[in-house]
Amino acid sequence: MSAHTPPPAKPANFLRSLIERELHDGVYAQRRWGGSPGDAAHHAAGGKDPAPVRLRFPPEPNGYLHIGHAKSICLNFGLARDFGGVCHLRFDDTNPEKEEQEYVDAIVEMVHWLGWSWQANGTEHLYYASSYFDFMYHAAEFLVERGLAYVDEQTPEEMRANRGDFTTPGRDSPWRDRAPADNLARLREMRDGRHADGAMVLRAKIDMASPNINLRDPALYRIKRAQHHATGERWCIYPMYTYAHPIEDALENITHSICTLEFEDQRPFYDWLLARLAEPATLADGRVLDALLQSPAPKQHEFGRLNLSYVITSKRKLKALVDEGHVSGWDDPRMPTLAGLRRRGYTPSAIRKFAEDTGASKTNVWIDYSVLEGALRADLEPQAPRAMAVLDPLRLKLVNWSELYGFSHREPCNAPVHPQQPELGLRGFTLGPEVWVERDDFAEVPAKGFFRLFPGNKVRLKYGMVVECTGCEKDAEGRVTAVLANVLPDTKSGSAGADAVKVKGTITWVGVHDALGATFNLYDRLFTAAQPDAGEADFRGLLNPDSRRTVHGFVEPSLASAGADQRWQFERHGYFVSDRLDHRAKAPVFNRITGLKDGWAKG
Ligand code: ATP
Ligand code: MG
Repeated sequence: MSAHTPPPAKPANFLRSLIERELHDGVYAQRRWGGSPGDAAHHAAGGKDPAPVRLRFPPEPNGYLHIGHAKSICLNFGLARDFGGVCHLRFDDTNPEKEEQEYVDAIVEMVHWLGWSWQANGTEHLYYASSYFDFMYHAAEFLVERGLAYVDEQTPEEMRANRGDFTTPGRDSPWRDRAPADNLARLREMRDGRHADGAMVLRAKIDMASPNINLRDPALYRIKRAQHHATGERWCIYPMYTYAHPIEDALENITHSICTLEFEDQRPFYDWLLARLAEPATLADGRVLDALLQSPAPKQHEFGRLNLSYVITSKRKLKALVDEGHVSGWDDPRMPTLAGLRRRGYTPSAIRKFAEDTGASKTNVWIDYSVLEGALRADLEPQAPRAMAVLDPLRLKLVNWSELYGFSHREPCNAPVHPQQPELGLRGFTLGPEVWVERDDFAEVPAKGFFRLFPGNKVRLKYGMVVECTGCEKDAEGRVTAVLANVLPDTKSGSAGADAVKVKGTITWVGVHDALGATFNLYDRLFTAAQPDAGEADFRGLLNPDSRRTVHGFVEPSLASAGADQRWQFERHGYFVSDRLDHRAKAPVFNRITGLKDGWAKG
């Protein structure tokens, strides 16, 4: 085969090379697809699987997605796209206790927001592991009948003690050699609610002496009376994750089951289980059981988890941040959740680019947060419209304005929406007798190298005129309340005289008469330590007390009609987004996404 076109060069990614090789060798070419997930008979009734590869993103709906999940999402959906296959979105909802519909909805929304689709050839490949409970139970009986699983009635303590450890082999349970018919009866009693929670478990019968502890008769089913978000009270036994996951993959015809490295030791059980369920068997009484699952089975492949500096990606700890009120919610713009990053102003394409650029490797990697910020700047720089904003306003009075032009004169100025994209046109605003400038653009006594406003110095009001500072006004406490300057006529940007006066500094400003009052949320990293998750210290003690500062200032009038969730580069300040929840046209709220890469003019 090899009908696919080779994907263009991408960053190192061992999974890509593996899939190329397998497609070339036709490893999965014979798979059939019954149109929906199902067992061997279901798929046998369908035609050749139209998807050359099937992958899946399998979140447990017990929290919000974070940047680590984005890595996994982009990897799986990206590989499926590149090889003309499909990626399923599957909720791994086999644990009834921690899962909620709220999380299901939030996950669907964020995978869509990232730009991925689980639709192919008119089919929605959105699945729930809980809809496979019947099959999983059926498969459990299949294993019991073959003598490959047994009901163990040891107490949890006994089971733990008999499991052994890395240096000691485990000891067989006294229940290990019970006859299949007795195990089957017991399993059915478990299912029918005849035993208490935790009274017994179903275990695979593999090898209590295996050097891989995961093969020492792992548990397959436990008794747990719990309300399940999808199946209600229908079941009082629930499959263990390690048993459920391979089956979910196989029913969905997954070819490549990609997971993070901590599952490496589970792979032998994954393979053992799927091999047993994909082979027919003849029982002692002569009965023949058909294979339950289609071959070839899916294969598990592990890649290194993404760790981002200054960020926590444990759902449990993120939940603690929310529950304990350290942040305003899962979508707080400081959170590494996708909901938080979206509210902060991150774009889906920047996150996809980040995921792609960080490749996939066989080791856990630490990525510096600046890599994510860099991907965002690279995305926004060529497209974000420019605007001027003053975050820490100080009044600048142009004392000779009235005399030159009359107090009510407004001098029209304009500036490109984007300096490299002239087709985006111009934005307009006006210069008048008073403007807002940044408080730190004025110094009564300039430090060496300071080229902005100080008595006797000339600066350009960007896109406007050159002014010469003459002094300042102060209040009773000596705090500067206004800066005074004379405007130099005939120096307007773009006019013939613009270059007649040389200045070393250019400052941004907005007119007092046409500026729009605005709130700015200035975010910084949530933690003060690069690896807040590591070591002994409680992550709560590492919270940055200055991770959010809210200030009030002004923006230029071109933003008067701005809607929520729009992005700009505020000149000299960095990238900002209008808050998707709090922004109002009459009361604008902007979140700082990130600063500019290179500081503005020195001084
Ligand atoms: P937690 O342990 O915090 O609950 P999880 O990894 O168990 O997170 P799941 O919902 O099971 O969360 O994750 C869904 C998928 O996302 C899994 O395949 C998992 O391996 C992957 N994933 C989660 N975190 C990361 C990460 N930091 N880097 C790469 N992939 C990740
Ligand atoms: Mg998990």
